[in-house]
Amino acid sequence: MPGFELWSDAERKHVNDVLETGILMRYGFDGPRKGIWKAKELEQEICNSFGSKHAQLVSSGTAALTTALSALGIGYGDEVIMPSFTFVASFEAILSVGAVPVMVDVDDTLTLDPAAVKAAITPKTKCVMPVHMCGSMADMDALQAICKEHKLLLLEDACQAIGGTYKGKKLGTIGDAGTFSFDFVKTITCAEGGVVMTNNEDTYIKCDGYSDHGHDHKGNDRGAEPHPFIGYNFRISELHAAVGLAQIKRLPEFLAIQKKNHAALKNILATIPEISFRRIPDAEGDSCTFLNWFLPTTEIMQAVVAEMKAQGIFGGNFYWFRHNWHYINVWDHLKHSITLNALSPELKEKVIFHANKDFSASDAIISRNVSTAISLTWSEEQIKEKGEKMVAVIKKVLSEMAVHA
Ligand SMILES: *Cc1c(COP(=O)(O)O)cnc(C)c1O
Repeated sequence: MPGFELWSDAERKHVNDVLETGILMRYGFDGPRKGIWKAKELEQEICNSFGSKHAQLVSSGTAALTTALSALGIGYGDEVIMPSFTFVASFEAILSVGAVPVMVDVDDTLTLDPAAVKAAITPKTKCVMPVHMCGSMADMDALQAICKEHKLLLLEDACQAIGGTYKGKKLGTIGDAGTFSFDFVKTITCAEGGVVMTNNEDTYIKCDGYSDHGHDHKGNDRGAEPHPFIGYNFRISELHAAVGLAQIKRLPEFLAIQKKNHAALKNILATIPEISFRRIPDAEGDSCTFLNWFLPTTEIMQAVVAEMKAQGIFGGNFYWFRHNWHYINVWDHLKHSITLNALSPELKEKVIFHANKDFSASDAIISRNVSTAISLTWSEEQIKEKGEKMVAVIKKVLSEMAVHA
């Protein structure tokens, strides 16, 4: 999955370019930077690689979501529909702009269930935020149709699906805006970083200003620049952008390895008839960062997880149902709306209401799922060994549970 696994001279070279000039900031210092503009170059490369008209780099994927929501004008009183299975950044970003995170169920795509989205729409709904979890995509045709019908904005969180596509379009470039994260464990990394992509110039200009204290970036005297609106500092540094610039050029290589290793492991697990795999709305477009598989019941999956752990072979596998970062059932801080700074009583009440709804439809999916992270460094022998060990555990548990049934 992560680009950090294949560190190379390319990353070192780009970082060194920046260290040679000593200009670590992306704006200004035009003379001393001697033509080195890593952040600008990476933004151009992102536009070229993903077919987005505009790209605004920021300091993280979370900052990218926050920036995109602000640029799209989402704030006080607005409801944003997001999945129950995602990363905590989804609700963090929504809350940080003062909007209401409305969690809804996921289906066997492990992403937003379009029927659940439809059912959650109210007059306050402003935006639908699908999260393309674990490398693959939400049903974008269905979600786009819903957004069109109800005049809602569509913001794609493609942080985990860099390089994935849907019907020929790159994930993250289909909605009104889309985001990637380049944190350390993503498909390509800057160490820390993120980007907002959009085809809308007005949205882009707002992202550009918002992520740098509202600066309009006109002229060459930062102190004299007007501030058309209030912003924050979500800037990326030149050092981080330099790493990303090396990594983005290696993305085709990373994706090819992921697809090959994913297919090899899937072939081994598919020999077990009780295993099923995640539904993928456009199988061609899976970025293959994870192999996502299901067993028939929660009990069987939990027994398999326990046995894999007992045998010391669970590393690189994720049982999200018990994972504090990714699934609603363990987000106690959200369920109780525990924040350091007071929310408005109205928002607090809504946060608690939406986080404590019935998510049994999601539970029925997530509790039967394990995601196996696909490494870029596996050899064919390692995949075979790993797959065969997993198959042995699953077969053992299935036969034991059949005996006790
Ligand atoms: C990683 C991630 C983010 C946030 O990215 P950071 O760069 O870590 O802030 C947001 N959404 C999803 C789905 C992610 O996996």
